[in-house]
Amino acid sequence: KAKLSRNDIAFYNQDDDKAQYRELTIINSLPKSLKQNQLHMVYQPKLDISSGKCSQVEALIRWEHDGLGIIPPTEFIPLAEHTGMIDLISKWALEQVLQQQVKWLQQGINIKVAVNLSTKDLENQHLPIDISNLLMQYKVPAENLMIEITESVLMLDLARTIETLKEIRELGVKIAIDDFGTGHSSLAYLRHLPIDEVKIDKAFLDDFNCDLQANKIVKTSIELAKSLGFDVTVEGVETKDVFDTLIEFGTDTIQGEYFSKPLVATDFELRYTQLIEQ
Ligand code: C2E
Ligand code: CA
Ligand code: CA
Ligand code: CA
Repeated sequence: KAKLSRNDIAFYNQDDDKAQYRELTIINSLPKSLKQNQLHMVYQPKLDISSGKCSQVEALIRWEHDGLGIIPPTEFIPLAEHTGMIDLISKWALEQVLQQQVKWLQQGINIKVAVNLSTKDLENQHLPIDISNLLMQYKVPAENLMIEITESVLMLDLARTIETLKEIRELGVKIAIDDFGTGHSSLAYLRHLPIDEVKIDKAFLDDFNCDLQANKIVKTSIELAKSLGFDVTVEGVETKDVFDTLIEFGTDTIQGEYFSKPLVATDFELRYTQLIEQ
């Protein structure tokens, strides 16, 4: 009875068209937007529990598109991965962070910055040499750089991934596994990777406190990761209750709005003295 009218079809097509048009606009304008500095980094401080200070920040990308407004990274990063443009973003991200490091070192701000890379970047055999060249070009100590990759790197050729990660680590760059617990891998597998840190995904904190099972998973993950020799960060910490519980559980580092939101570079500079004296 509910026959589709021409209008209905036109309506549905229009919606599809809109989504497709948006995707195309995003993809097509990415290279130009990168060149024209429509993208920038914000930096989220991480709290080192043992010293009570901020010792690291994570760089998170932001895009203010002149036509579409703010485009979240969760929307354009996957598109860039699918269209083979992620290497443009990753190269831009590394350069951006190293340029920022040069400025910060000149101001006496000596901090490790973590950059998010895509699993696709790990397939590039030149990645270690590219990173090495950039560090030399900007004269930034390798100790001031960390890269974050997700456990989906385990889907790549394991022997080659280990080799690539080893080469990066030999430069003195630290490596973290991001979003731990969201994939299907276990710490038993991650143990094979030459990594320094495990970041437990914020999804686990959604049911924290009111859910003893979720609590146990986080506690056990922290303990296991530490017993395997990894540093542990829990991300997405928003409240004092969760913060206090995680300290009890023995996490090394905490990241989340309870400590600090991601900040533009100038705001980070203003808060730096306070952050390292906390
Ligand atoms: P991620 O690497 O897991 O980054 C953490 C995300 O959690 C960030 O979202 C951050 O703003 C957000 N966050 C921080 N504190 C809290 C909190 O207390 N509560 C909640 N609910 N969220 C918090 P953002 O900046 O939107 O980034 C989303 C994702 O986009 C990142 O997840 C990462 O996977 C990707 N991404 C961001 N920047 C880059 C980049 O430069 N390169 C690549 N390849 N991916 C990036
Ligand atoms: Ca990350
Ligand atoms: Ca994460
Ligand atoms: Ca994430």
